[in-house]
Amino acid sequence: MSFRSIEQLLRRNSKIKISQSIANGIHDQKEEQSVQTLRESLLASNQLPEKFDDHHVLLRFLRMRGFNIIKAKEMFLNMLKWREDCAVDTIAKDFKFEEFDALKRCYPHGFHGVDRFGRPLYIERIGSVDLSKLMQVTSIDRYIKYHISEQEKTLSLRYPACSLAAKKHISSTTAILDVKGLGMNNFSKAAREMFIEIQKIDSNYYPETLHQLYIINAGSGFRALWKVLKAFMEARTLKKIQVLGTNYLSTVLEAVEPSNLPEFLGGTCTCSATGGCLLQDKGPWTDAGIIRASKVRSLQQDM
Ligand SMILES: [Zn+2]
Repeated sequence: MSFRSIEQLLRRNSKIKISQSIANGIHDQKEEQSVQTLRESLLASNQLPEKFDDHHVLLRFLRMRGFNIIKAKEMFLNMLKWREDCAVDTIAKDFKFEEFDALKRCYPHGFHGVDRFGRPLYIERIGSVDLSKLMQVTSIDRYIKYHISEQEKTLSLRYPACSLAAKKHISSTTAILDVKGLGMNNFSKAAREMFIEIQKIDSNYYPETLHQLYIINAGSGFRALWKVLKAFMEARTLKKIQVLGTNYLSTVLEAVEPSNLPEFLGGTCTCSATGGCLLQDKGPWTDAGIIRASKVRSLQQDM
């Protein structure tokens, strides 16, 4: 089965099964009212594409703007404009990141299983990045396109698959950022600019998709750098970030089962069959059982 058909299947399934049965059951009355008001306002000005006409999408924008309808609408419209200007749908559909393997070698990162709630777990070993190598294998512009295509894949495939696996609505990610060895000296101006650009994209156009971020192995060098980076981040995002030193494991294990945590971070997973945990994109979104289950369900719905 192709990636596209799995995605369609899951999207269809998520629309019917998850959005309606699981998520609809737990809508908060007040939230529901705000979502309706925002929805009607967008519909009245003909600014709500079908693709985004979804309770949880609108709710993310409302939450990010403290349920201020005018501000949430402005943010939503900025997102639509950005998608148009940057041709995000085309990036999601057609962008080919041929340097993927080379990038992974000098910049270890990737999705790896789920947290205890069922959200996708994302791990990045930014302290191990070989920056000069990274700039040789790709460019900032292409890296940003790759980041956008991954964000789109998370929305259209990873969250629906995780929702199906956990049998509850999932629309945010738990992340671990290993900053071992990272400080002002080895985080160049170009790297800082890239970080800030990505931060901007994530918080402006994919609001509230971060559930919790654990920054681990933070030493004094990183803490100095963190003071600079913090200035570019939204207060709401900062609240979801915990900066931990080398004694991070017990805190992280509260959120993640050891079997979902790679051995190099203190968990038990090695993904030995595929050459390492960050190479595999392991999770419900690549699990044959979940895909089979979604197929059976969608067949039942057709009957
Ligand atoms: Zn693994």
